[in-house]
Amino acid sequence: MSGMALPPGFKLPLMKYSPALARLIEALRILPGVGPKTAQRMAFHLLERDRDGGREIAAALADVLARVGHCQRCRMLTEEALCPLCVSAAAGPSAAVRRRIAGGCHRR
Ligand SMILES: [Zn+2]
Repeated sequence: MSGMALPPGFKLPLMKYSPALARLIEALRILPGVGPKTAQRMAFHLLERDRDGGREIAAALADVLARVGHCQRCRMLTEEALCPLCVSAAAGPSAAVRRRIAGGCHRR
């Protein structure tokens, strides 16, 4: 995490919250479309109404960050070195088609 480094003059509006809660609210604001109000609402919802949901989000996020990377061929998100599309393209009958496209389309 980036710590508490803030631009000079920036007033942190989260001092009224515990450090852990302020951290969560700041972290939620990383998401696109989530401003301070929404981040606070999300954090309070998880803490006051759905702690199991909060645990599920935390576990799913940790899991996806640990497992999912980019396909070495097409850069699509995948849990393997190659995504299912590239695996089937390499193994299936379309491999011959791809060789023809790559090596011989000028012969048509
Ligand atoms: Zn791929």
